[in-house]
Amino acid sequence: MGSKAVFLDRDGTINFDPDYLKNPDEVVILPTVGEALAKLKISGYKLIVISNQSGVARGIMTVEDVEAVNERINELLFGYNVQIEQFYFCPHHPDFSPTGTPECRKPSPEMLYRAVNDHDIVLDGSYMIGDTHMDIGCGNNAGIPAILVRTGKGASQEEVIKNSGLKVAYTADNLLDAVNFILKEVHEEK
Ligand SMILES: [Mg+2]
Ligand SMILES: [Zn+2]
Repeated sequence: MGSKAVFLDRDGTINFDPDYLKNPDEVVILPTVGEALAKLKISGYKLIVISNQSGVARGIMTVEDVEAVNERINELLFGYNVQIEQFYFCPHHPDFSPTGTPECRKPSPEMLYRAVNDHDIVLDGSYMIGDTHMDIGCGNNAGIPAILVRTGKGASQEEVIKNSGLKVAYTADNLLDAVNFILKEVHEEK
């Protein structure tokens, strides 16, 4: 019997997104995020980051830069008694998929499926949360509810997403609002 998970976008959802964040010293966790993640953990959800990091393919940053930022995020979350179980990221360029390997960049659900395998996760009852249409698409493609947060690029994506045919389960002001939606839904199902 696996456990449920909340799959989270990183930049603009967990941390402030200055575009191509590569310096761990510049990591700033967004308001309500620590509290929101701790609430999910206490409720038994695994916390998995699913992130597009095309800055690697663009030569703006290295895989090591991405990993240093990931480590810094968990360092900061330590203060809230919560950790991201694993950070998955796609280093590829949006304009060309690498030959011979399956495309992992969101909205592809491939990274999410990898996490399901690695961590014995059940998709039924799991959620995807992010601030762009790619995150919503990823959740839709994996067949799980997708929540848009208005942090990061979220507020400016709302209209585009509404007109795109993507399915948004809920639009939240911030991560805590998103988490409260999830926990309320679970409660009402009982
Ligand atoms: Mg984002
Ligand atoms: Zn990829």
